Amino acid sequence: MTISEEVQKRRTFAIISHPDAGKTTLTETLLLFGNLIRSAGTVKGKKTGKFATSDWMEIEKQRGISVTSSVMNFPYNGLQVNILDTPGHEDFSEDTYRTLTAVDSVVMIIDATKGIEAQTKKLFKVCRMRGIPIFTFINKLDREGREPFELLEEIEEVLDIETYPMNWPVGMGKRFQGIFDRNGNQFVKYSSEDKETFVPYEELDQPEFDDLKKTEEYQTASDEVSLLDEAGDQFSMDKVLKGELTPVFFGSALAPFGVQTFFDTFIEMAPPPAPRKTTESVVQPDNPDFSGFIFKIQANMNPQHRDRVAFLRVCSGKFERNLSVKLARTGKTINLSQSQQFVASARDNIEEAYAGDIIGIYDPNVYRIGDTLVEGKELFEYDELPQFPPELYKRVTAKNVMKSKQFKKGIEQLVQEGAIQLFKKYKTESYIVGAVGDLQFDVFKYRMQNEYNSDILLESIGERVPRWIGDEKVKESLFDERNMLVEDREGNPVVLFKNEFSLNWFKDQHPEVDLIDLYEVN
Ligand code: GDP
Repeated sequence: MTISEEVQKRRTFAIISHPDAGKTTLTETLLLFGNLIRSAGTVKGKKTGKFATSDWMEIEKQRGISVTSSVMNFPYNGLQVNILDTPGHEDFSEDTYRTLTAVDSVVMIIDATKGIEAQTKKLFKVCRMRGIPIFTFINKLDREGREPFELLEEIEEVLDIETYPMNWPVGMGKRFQGIFDRNGNQFVKYSSEDKETFVPYEELDQPEFDDLKKTEEYQTASDEVSLLDEAGDQFSMDKVLKGELTPVFFGSALAPFGVQTFFDTFIEMAPPPAPRKTTESVVQPDNPDFSGFIFKIQANMNPQHRDRVAFLRVCSGKFERNLSVKLARTGKTINLSQSQQFVASARDNIEEAYAGDIIGIYDPNVYRIGDTLVEGKELFEYDELPQFPPELYKRVTAKNVMKSKQFKKGIEQLVQEGAIQLFKKYKTESYIVGAVGDLQFDVFKYRMQNEYNSDILLESIGERVPRWIGDEKVKESLFDERNMLVEDREGNPVVLFKNEFSLNWFKDQHPEVDLIDLYEVN
């Protein structure tokens, strides 16, 4: 098979959702389709203990969770599926965001009983910023939830994206009867015994469906579908690919119901790897020379060996064992002899990989997040990974002032690695670290102690709303503890507002100050 044919087969995506919306349940069902697991309930250690393999770092064991975004891959319908996990519970971190730079599309799960929740919104913003195609699965139809129209309206309003229902539910909860599959022109009938029965529209005339058709739920849904067909928005694949319209599927991950139809449609529609921008030009995924970038570094997967694994998204060419590449940042040649692919919790050595695949490469402490690796003579770098605004902030000091050298070295390296973000109070040496999720602080503290022998004190200054200042001159007198003026790693001035209210109040009082929201700039 040619490189181009291999690339066309790749479907690399992440599932985003708020905790408890059903990401694990849906992932398990997909793994069942891929024959990767025999029964549901085996993905996360949190529930079954199986994921807690012994060689993950200590902190993972203590908490019984996985810090890494794992990657699952399997062949399906002639395609090669790569699912990237986006950790969401206590382990929500910048890695969760960065993972989204390595995918070609996203599945967003929404709990029908709750609608859009905080974490979904945050992750969605990042997808939107990057123009990633988004497919929506509205889950838990087997429970009494919100009205379908109301849910679609909420998506359109809160997330500012058009919706197109690919299917339409008939009832909900106890009255749930199935879905009209608008795409497949069939009715998918639900029953708790058989789960799914597929009835092509023309067969609905058969007498056996008379009872179903008499129900109020069926009649309402059938009217709604006619309304959608006549007055609803047009479907536009072009808009889907630009991330401006999301195809919406209703179903239940647990039953499972509607999952197969959803997945088959999604996998057909989702785009294969696209060309990617670099500092020099645009690289085609079927370009014969290998290239890729590192979006995540996992330290100390095995505490005995202190090894690190860098997760690389292949963007072009073909990866083979012992491939010789150049690290674009330094120009140094590296032989990729130890590379792995991840299947849930297992790590296997891999022989080859193509654009869209994620590989784990052994990191002898030379890589940084965002690094580009290239084969061939031309050196170039993929676009820098965006900086994601942290929400939680803590002041950090060394417990033992005599050990300030280790303290500084540790902070410098961990910040460079992307484990945490560093700020300083404006024009002082007082350090503040920022994170997207609480776990980042725990990992930071643990690693400072274990790798740099530096005991640290972390003192919370709470949740903050950061805004970068675009002005040449900063008026220091406008700020105080409440709206704290700090500088980021590069010395750019940033205000950490106490909350949205403080931010808005400040904007009213000082419209002349140019405040930049990183989410909106990129
Ligand atoms: P995650 O936190 O997003 O990974 O969510 P889980 O997959 O762990 O699901 C959270 C809870 O919702 C679990 O108790 C699931 O059994 C339940 N759940 C998931 N999908 C469905 C569904 O379709 N219907 C119902 N009734 N419960 C569901």
